[in-house]
Amino acid sequence: MERQLPQATTKGPADWFTGDVYIDAVARGRGPSTLNVGAVHFTPGARTAWHSHDGGQILYVTEGRGLVQARGERVVAISSGDVIYTADGEEHWHGATPDHGMTHLTFTEGDATWGAHVSDEEYRGHVRGDEGEDVTSSLG
Ligand code: MN
Repeated sequence: MERQLPQATTKGPADWFTGDVYIDAVARGRGPSTLNVGAVHFTPGARTAWHSHDGGQILYVTEGRGLVQARGERVVAISSGDVIYTADGEEHWHGATPDHGMTHLTFTEGDATWGAHVSDEEYRGHVRGDEGEDVTSSLG
């Protein structure tokens, strides 16, 4: 058994995030496990770019209020205790609401593929062809 030394908090790179995001590495698998666990802290309005994960991703929201959207689906509000599963290769984004920070744990076992940043229009839920509820307009 060993107690791991805490690693310094890193800032989420601007290529992958909009706004200020801080990442604490929590755990890495040591072969054969490729598990990667991190705590990701989004400041209000911050979100990931569109991306997907080889092998999928599990998110566990530990604090605050956030938003998540899969490509072609509506924006969904998430908060403490919510668990979100994204399938292998499914394009999506996640982040904080405009007025609240949000922290989630992330569990992945593979690499991510990164795409375009989420525009303000997409973030606000006004995706063309989206007939779903505009979640963000009711958050005040
Ligand atoms: Mn993701």
